[in-house]
Amino acid sequence: MGEFELIRRFFDRGDRAADGVVKGIGDDCAVLAPTPGWQWLVSTDMLVEGRHFLSTVDPERLGHKALAVNLSDLAACGARPRAFFLALALPRADAKFLEGFARGLFALADAHGIALAGGDTTAGPLNVCITVMGEAPQGQVLLRSGARAGDELWVSGTLGDARLALEVFRGTHSLPGDQFVQVRRAMELPQPRLALGQALRGIASSAIDVSDGLGGDLGHVLKASGVGAEVYFNALPRSAILAGQDLMLQQQCLLAGGDDYELVFTAAPEHHEAVKDAGARTGTRVTRVGRIRTEPGLDVLDSDGAPMAVLLASFDHFKS
Ligand code: ADP
Ligand code: MG
Repeated sequence: MGEFELIRRFFDRGDRAADGVVKGIGDDCAVLAPTPGWQWLVSTDMLVEGRHFLSTVDPERLGHKALAVNLSDLAACGARPRAFFLALALPRADAKFLEGFARGLFALADAHGIALAGGDTTAGPLNVCITVMGEAPQGQVLLRSGARAGDELWVSGTLGDARLALEVFRGTHSLPGDQFVQVRRAMELPQPRLALGQALRGIASSAIDVSDGLGGDLGHVLKASGVGAEVYFNALPRSAILAGQDLMLQQQCLLAGGDDYELVFTAAPEHHEAVKDAGARTGTRVTRVGRIRTEPGLDVLDSDGAPMAVLLASFDHFKS
């Protein structure tokens, strides 16, 4: 199978006009039609074998996750997904791998109405780079820089299960089989919070998606906004499985985990009910986990309101 046959067979579904894609796969450039009064939002994330995923991963789950981590960035900005681009390096044109990969990729793409509008295909070590494009009404994008002292701090879904699964893969921890299946799903099949992100436009003051751990990612928001925060450790939403682990491991997974792809966002207290309503309307659990303060830095408080000595180091590819 040659390069062009591969593209035609696995990736060219003729995604077109309904998505605002005037010209998709098949020319030198894709041509996209912006919605008048809306702004483009563009983000790229790369997944490298051995670094972001194991060689044994199910190709269908890899297809899902490669797009999910990118869609999560659009979600964090409150964007509506429009089109994406796929740059793929493959050791060989393996039809079984490509079928599974495309199935996982397009299932998630179709669930969120985003079209594959182009890409690049080459031979090489397995590497998946996706660029997503979304849009939001002019001036309504959720940024990291909007948090203000007094705002409430919120988290979607639950945190920490993906990191728990990683520890099992690394052999530092073990879980009963059925629990491992569940946390492994969290790691391999994250669900980008696109509906919630869009519902939070005009309500949230800032947002970010948790890809490198709550401590580190919230740190980016605090820095960009010039504020500090208090997080109530006991309020952090976690699965029953994680809640059953010892406290040190819970801290590590909840605060310094990664691969959560949940949204962390801030909103003024007067929007408290609006946030809960946005969660209910989009079927997304939202939990208030802290508050934004003037004093810089991040404190994690125990049930008595005393700061805990916790490790907040976030995942860094050039350190860990
Ligand atoms: P060019 O040489 O002009 O860059 P290519 O031969 O690389 O074009 O690609 C041909 C067409 O197929 C282009 O429209 C490109 O966007 C698309 N394409 C290539 N690889 C992929 C892929 N993995 N997924 C989707 N579209 C792809
Ligand atoms: Mg090319």
